[in-house]
Amino acid sequence: MRKEIINTWNGEKVELNISSDEYCCCPVCGRKSDDKEWRPYDKNGHPSYDICSCGFEYGFDDDGEPPYEKSWSNYRKKWLNNEIEQHFDKKMTKSEKLVQLKNIGIE
Ligand SMILES: [Zn+2]
Repeated sequence: MRKEIINTWNGEKVELNISSDEYCCCPVCGRKSDDKEWRPYDKNGHPSYDICSCGFEYGFDDDGEPPYEKSWSNYRKKWLNNEIEQHFDKKMTKSEKLVQLKNIGIE
């Protein structure tokens, strides 16, 4: 796992986790992307407006302006506690979620 740092247009930093086989992981739920090129935010930190299977929409659930970490962690807590109504993952158990979160270094 390596980190990819984006210096955003408004002077903040966005830190993304890239898996050892070079796929970017969702900064909220740790889900590994299906596409090596995919990033939730572009090289200036602008959101992709993609929606992850955890239901997080980059650019909407984070208010579209860096820093994003706080909205990621708030959403992550709700996702872990099954408080997200609109999600697209097959029901994951809490322990499956915790395993997935290791992709982004959260234990
Ligand atoms: Zn996600």
